[in-house]
Amino acid sequence: MRKISIFGATGSIGQNTIDLIRRQPDAYDVVALTGGHNIAQLAQDAIELRAEIAVTAHDARLPELRAALAGSAVEAAAGPEALLEAASRPADWIMSAIVGAAGLAPGLKALEQGTTLALANKESLVCAGALLMQTAERHGARILPVDSEHSAVFQALVGERLDEVERIIITASGGAFRDWPLEALRTATLAQASSHPNWDMGQRITIDSASMFNKALEVIETREFFGVDPSQIEVLVHPQSLVHALVGFRDGALMSHLGAPDMRHAIGYALHWPERKTLPVPRLDLAAAGQLEFRAPDPNRYPALRLAQEVMARGGLSGAAFNGAKEQALDHFIAGRIGFLDMATITEQVLASLEAHPGLIDAAMTLENVTRVDDLARQATDQVVTQRTG
Ligand code: NDP
Repeated sequence: MRKISIFGATGSIGQNTIDLIRRQPDAYDVVALTGGHNIAQLAQDAIELRAEIAVTAHDARLPELRAALAGSAVEAAAGPEALLEAASRPADWIMSAIVGAAGLAPGLKALEQGTTLALANKESLVCAGALLMQTAERHGARILPVDSEHSAVFQALVGERLDEVERIIITASGGAFRDWPLEALRTATLAQASSHPNWDMGQRITIDSASMFNKALEVIETREFFGVDPSQIEVLVHPQSLVHALVGFRDGALMSHLGAPDMRHAIGYALHWPERKTLPVPRLDLAAAGQLEFRAPDPNRYPALRLAQEVMARGGLSGAAFNGAKEQALDHFIAGRIGFLDMATITEQVLASLEAHPGLIDAAMTLENVTRVDDLARQATDQVVTQRTG
């Protein structure tokens, strides 16, 4: 039996992972499931899958988790240290699906035990890609992509040589507002930004899709995963979300990966890699789909894509500053303090202010320094929001 753990088990990726595990209960020995506020879901899944331990990220929720697990053999734990302890428990395969920079420390801890880390948590690669890669190498661990675009690139590269790759094209649906007049974005509401035309995902990534911050993170993720130059990465708006990525080789050939917009595809590929197993995902009917459209993203509509290029050009810890500011600006948008377009303006302002401190951005990429930059970016974002809102 394969020992597996799922970090962020109560979220959209976590639940899709559990859906696959549940179909083959005898194949997996579940070590740890972790969640945040959704204690009922965490306890229910931990009991059903006979997990060794269930961990909530929030200390204050421990009594509730204990009560929900009462009578079962599942251990209960809470807080950041408990997450790290769970990540250090031996497992053959660990899903990293916590949302945000909070996924970095458990991901690093998991890699230190030499496991295979299925990485959905793109923020950790954006904040500390080199640190994750070096940690994996040092401990003989492997990182497999779970983001659909990066899984698609990974699959298109099977049997290929990276030095023959000319470009990598990742697609973007364009999010909730792709056809809205630019001016209307100013007054876009939380409910409007939280509905995705094609994918069913967590709220934060759905809003990030509407602003293309998600694609900006994915561009940086592409660089970190595949080690290509930023100039080799392109984004194409593809409203149908059926072609997830294309890899262009130096002979002009383009290899693409197509599939229904269902995350169990990429999760299942990472779960069974290097084999392919039957997956419960809809099969594509291209005749029914009819048309596949592609267009270049409008830079005025999606400033986040320009910021990603600037972050990659700057290097160092600017990815952590970018992500921290973006996450905090998103919190303020969700809380109704700032408008939809303000997220990009504020992130750019905070990024510029932190990049003005070379000692900060060029510090060694350690977990401590990444966390410091992340904290400062969040504080600076709060200050800008306070100045704006009075
Ligand atoms: P969700 O918001 O649906 O789930 C996030 C998970 O993380 C939940 O289990 C949540 O717990 C937990 N969590 C939230 N905050 C913390 C914290 N501070 N510490 C520890 N755990 C926490 O997110 P998604 O599943 O949509 O996304 C997860 C990751 O996967 C993100 O990095 C996202 O970018 C990436 N991803 C998602 C895709 C998707 O289709 N959803 C596609 C590709 C990548 P709780 O809910 O119990 O509070």
